[in-house]
Amino acid sequence: MFEYSGFIHIHSLYSDGTGKIEDIARFAAESGLDFIIMTDHNTLKPKNDGYEKWINGVMVIIGYEVNDIHNRNHYLVFGLDEVIGSYSEIANGETACLLSAPEYVRKVKEKGGIGFIAHPDEERKGLPGQQAYPWTAETDDYTGIEIWNHMSQWIEGMNQSNKLDRFLHPLKSVTAPSQKTLDRWDTAALSRHVTGIGGVDAHALKQNILGLFEVEIFPYKVLFKSIRTHVFLNDPIEKSNDKLFNVYKMNILKALETGKCFISNHYLGDARGFRFFAEYNGKNYNTGDEISINDGKVILRTLVPKPCNIKIVHNGNMISESESMNHTIDVKEKGIYRAECFRGGKAWIFSNHIRIV
Ligand SMILES: [Zn+2]
Ligand SMILES: [Zn+2]
Repeated sequence: MFEYSGFIHIHSLYSDGTGKIEDIARFAAESGLDFIIMTDHNTLKPKNDGYEKWINGVMVIIGYEVNDIHNRNHYLVFGLDEVIGSYSEIANGETACLLSAPEYVRKVKEKGGIGFIAHPDEERKGLPGQQAYPWTAETDDYTGIEIWNHMSQWIEGMNQSNKLDRFLHPLKSVTAPSQKTLDRWDTAALSRHVTGIGGVDAHALKQNILGLFEVEIFPYKVLFKSIRTHVFLNDPIEKSNDKLFNVYKMNILKALETGKCFISNHYLGDARGFRFFAEYNGKNYNTGDEISINDGKVILRTLVPKPCNIKIVHNGNMISESESMNHTIDVKEKGIYRAECFRGGKAWIFSNHIRIV
């Protein structure tokens, strides 16, 4: 298996971001990323303008983020050449899909794309007048859930008194995904595979703080130290190989679809080398895999590149933990298992599920 790390959920000047894609890709290259997935709102114009390609040795993949006419139910769509449905303008130059969320989620699936529910449990209670963009639709046709969104968490705990600190230290407040979202994910994944991914929702907004000075919130370069999604591929990627770009892209999307991936907060340390896998009857299983057992035990192994607090979660409940670099546990109960790692009380790594049936 070959591991590659990337950044998912980024806005550029094609919607409400502040950066050009070539600059964003340059920052990504400087941050050591292998791929980025752009998700401007309701548009594939960057793809049509030829930006889906290698830039500075980084694979730039173009998807989009769709929302409904209430500006809710944000959905990250990858692997399609068209924007589903028709659109109209709502407030402040924002656009919306005229289909309902269950309709666009189903259409993405029918057309062979994959899609992830974005920032599902977002709340913005501390700041009056700030609109939140939660997921409210009923559907089971999505591929997965963005279980950790930097921007949402950053805004969620913000209030008038910590506002300045949050603006000046945008990485410090990212401590863990919302428990509500983790519960949502574990519950949905009990009946079928649901991939978890991490997103940063990079906008790099410019804001005037307290009328004193203008700072760029979330400069892309700062954000690229934040929440990454790492994928496992069967074949290696040869940097800047144009001919194989589409093959590599499909491999990355397949890894996201099938749960061959994990999420890390890079601010707490480079998570490359993390593994959560199972052994049963002499065979190894990766996340996203299903193991049919008759009798005997499954060995779950977690390996991390730095000492941390490793927790194993079964059907949403923590069943085992240790401070170590290598955690092993035998299990025989059916259900879904995943690993979580914490450093200094902050969440660092989240694996996808391994299912035992
Ligand atoms: Zn969104
Ligand atoms: Zn977004």
